[in-house]
Amino acid sequence: MENLKKYINEIKDFPREGILFKDINPIYKDPKKWSELMLPLQKLISSLKPDYIAGIESRGFISASALAFKLGVGFIPIRKPNKLPGKVLGINYKLEYGQDRLEIQQNSIEKDSKIIVVDDLLATGGTANAAGKLIKAAGGILIGYGFLVELTKLKGRLKLDSNLLVKSIIKY
Ligand code: AMP
Repeated sequence: MENLKKYINEIKDFPREGILFKDINPIYKDPKKWSELMLPLQKLISSLKPDYIAGIESRGFISASALAFKLGVGFIPIRKPNKLPGKVLGINYKLEYGQDRLEIQQNSIEKDSKIIVVDDLLATGGTANAAGKLIKAAGGILIGYGFLVELTKLKGRLKLDSNLLVKSIIKY
């Protein structure tokens, strides 16, 4: 996977000063490279036999929905505030600077469904941790997390349940 790093662009101070943004778009643009990156996640998720894959808005939707479609598994969106219709469950969580909020539709999960959360990148872990809590609040059983990229120095993993599978494909 190291060979794919050269297709991930690094943009300084985006979207805010101090962030070195990893731009995965050149990989999504190339079907061969994208499938090389997705294949390990695809295999792992397939072996865990989840009922649903939950994707986190918005960059997480790209890989989560593609994996769900490929594996013939349902897709559940976890979205930014005020985007989902009907009754929602929400969770506020801390970012490096400030706060954010994620929401899920209240009746989107049948009780005890097995769910994997997929996002493009694991940084400090706040977003994935909040998404996992939402899955549980909505009645699902969280069985793991999948990420295309992990920024290991930020130790996001430590915010995620160590009893669950936490898989990332490219590590920095
Ligand atoms: P965190 O909650 O800190 O783990 O941040 C993860 C979320 O923020 C993911 O949904 C990423 O899309 C985004 N993100 C955070 N840091 C970066 C980065 N350096 N490059 C690209 N995306 C990032």
